[in-house]
Amino acid sequence: MSYPEVAAFDLDYTVWPCFCDTHLNPPFKPMPSKNGEVRTLIDSYGYELSFYKDVPRILEDLKTHDVKIISASRTWAPEIARELLRAFKVEYKGEIVPLITLFDSLQWGEKSKVNHIRLGIQEIFGAKADIRDYKSCLFDDESRNRDVEKYGVKYVYVRDPESGTTWDLYQKYLNGN
Ligand SMILES: [Mg+2]
Repeated sequence: MSYPEVAAFDLDYTVWPCFCDTHLNPPFKPMPSKNGEVRTLIDSYGYELSFYKDVPRILEDLKTHDVKIISASRTWAPEIARELLRAFKVEYKGEIVPLITLFDSLQWGEKSKVNHIRLGIQEIFGAKADIRDYKSCLFDDESRNRDVEKYGVKYVYVRDPESGTTWDLYQKYLNGN
């Protein structure tokens, strides 16, 4: 099993099952679980959104192995995505924390995914850090983003919009690279 140094995640249909710029209308109401986690939010129209259930476990496992985590999203509504990442709360090392705190760098905008990852690596490791010097991967549901492989980033295809990024897919990636 081989861990990367950097793991990047798309958000829509990779971390949660919706397009946050077209499907959702803030404000969001949290639906806390008994342990204080917030795995479900309800928007102002009553639309319920939960992140894919294995995502917090995957992020915790990455962080336990010193992997830096980047979000790489081209959403038109980064302020909504950011609000979701703040409002979702997950158990991490025995504490309840906002999902956003598990990310080391948040990258947004109409640029290519490789540029998201490049900027994330520079934010984390310094302005001179070169994407090719770090073992990295991208979890993403749009196969056109496979072009990150030209820059040495392993592309992990999140194929199924029902289940999103699963522990099983993650294990296959760790065991296959
Ligand atoms: Mg996506």
